[in-house]
Amino acid sequence: MKESPQSKKLEAMLRSSKLVAGGFLGTDNRSVSEIIETDRQTAAAAGYSTAEIARRMQEITDIAVTGLGNFVRIDEGLEAMVEEAKGSLVCPWPHPGTYAKRVTILRDTKNQKLLQWSDLNIHMIAEHGFFEGRGSTFRLEPDELADVIF
Ligand SMILES: [Zn+2]
Repeated sequence: MKESPQSKKLEAMLRSSKLVAGGFLGTDNRSVSEIIETDRQTAAAAGYSTAEIARRMQEITDIAVTGLGNFVRIDEGLEAMVEEAKGSLVCPWPHPGTYAKRVTILRDTKNQKLLQWSDLNIHMIAEHGFFEGRGSTFRLEPDELADVIF
């Protein structure tokens, strides 16, 4: 498939370190549309839409924020905390508005496994179905994530 100039521009922005250190694509050589389509299928195979995953992430962040930096119980076997950070992030698509730089850390207490996401991750998954490229700092595997949060 031939990429439009617009999607080429987006891909260049996502690969650059202009917005986040290391960029949003990490070491992933696939095109942005391929990453998004594959993740959509992976999420669907796990039984969820990307919008449903994003909604649950937002729900967890909203609860975790009440802990003021401490872990809060989310569910049986699940705790989360929000690490506040100064500043904000912008959506690379681009979108108007900024997203708080805070990070939600989710802990699966059964295996001590940790997952993390920023407010921008929630937005990018909700609006663009984008979980970032493999090898990026905030890459989330849709099926692993769904397995923990639902
Ligand atoms: Zn956006």
